Amino acid sequence: MANTLFYIIVSIILFDFFFDRFLDYLNLKRWSVSLPAELEGIYSDEKYRESMNYFRAKQKFSLVMGSFSLILLLFVLFINGFALLDEFVRSVSDSLIIRTLLFFGVIGLIADLLSTPFSLYNTFVIEGRYGFNKTTVSTFIFDKLKSWFLAILIGGTLLGVVVAFYEYTGKWFWLVAWGVISMFTLFMVMFYSNIIVPLFNKQKPLEEGTLRMGINEFAVRTGFKVKDIFIIDGSKRSSKANAYFTGLGPRKRIVLYDTLINDHPVDELVAVLAHEIGHYKRKHNLTGSMLSLAQTGLLLYILSVFINNPLLSQALGASNGSFYMGLLAFGLLFSPVNLVLSLFTNYISRRNEYAADRFAGENYNPDSLISALKRLSVNNLSNLMPHPLFVFFHYSHPPLLSRIKSLKNI
Ligand SMILES: [Zn+2]
Repeated sequence: MANTLFYIIVSIILFDFFFDRFLDYLNLKRWSVSLPAELEGIYSDEKYRESMNYFRAKQKFSLVMGSFSLILLLFVLFINGFALLDEFVRSVSDSLIIRTLLFFGVIGLIADLLSTPFSLYNTFVIEGRYGFNKTTVSTFIFDKLKSWFLAILIGGTLLGVVVAFYEYTGKWFWLVAWGVISMFTLFMVMFYSNIIVPLFNKQKPLEEGTLRMGINEFAVRTGFKVKDIFIIDGSKRSSKANAYFTGLGPRKRIVLYDTLINDHPVDELVAVLAHEIGHYKRKHNLTGSMLSLAQTGLLLYILSVFINNPLLSQALGASNGSFYMGLLAFGLLFSPVNLVLSLFTNYISRRNEYAADRFAGENYNPDSLISALKRLSVNNLSNLMPHPLFVFFHYSHPPLLSRIKSLKNI
């Protein structure tokens, strides 16, 4: 039985890998040598070729990295590597909390160290070659250290708390864990900009000037306070531009990248801002948070049904069942369910993007948003012709051409 489960896990991992390659292949086939008619007036011939080369470099990179991870994971599974790690953590401590933290800590550390060369290559070679990279070596190193610190502090604490509940509340642990994780998630949604972002970036309120004046009129008219608009130094890492809406209620804010402000005229910036205000007006952050809380609850409940079954641990080669081995096997088995859940969240997210676009088009100007989106896509060398199936599975934002079409209908 444990053996069957082992091969189910292996099949899921292989399926994930080959399914991604299949979607990549569909995406690659969409590129034609000469500029497609739909992209005339958006990409010049030269920019189109550059975006194609960038796309290919990224895809090749993900193939190499994906193959490396696949081979490594299968190797670890076939030599019962996780069971060996289980034996090691058992020899270190009798406490389930310490064992669990050590178990995932070791896996996380090894995975991170092995992925670092890939991340270096992506940042300094690929992104560098296309002129996007602005990250210095010291920023890269400090980012790494800070994300380790956060992973240990936040990940370690939450995992420790979940294990403690598992030990002391038995079958109700999922409910208590859900409560704690929900409160923590809401806290992070509220304070993300004040606690996490400052570790990595500088944010400053929008300064007096023509931009603020341009934005002010629109913001006031739609009931958004200008003091909740911030500029972030995205240029510290990349020349790519972006903007986002974050937080809830009184802690909401719109964040514009400095790179966006440098590249776009005022009317386009107001249009982007109008899109972000659209997310706020349509309560997308609130519904998004509720949805992710519901998903977490569902996941924890399913986990609680299976976690005490020693088969999970035995499938990974252990002789005894344990919480952390069960959790790991569950995580591997759960990936097809995750794929389905992500289809749903991506669909909702794309629908929200259309709604925010519509808000901006109706309350400001559809043409300014269209030209802003075009400029953003060209500057970021985006793939403007993704395969519909790839979009269906992986895109949280609709592709540019669909957004333009929907904006033109306003
Ligand atoms: Zn949006």
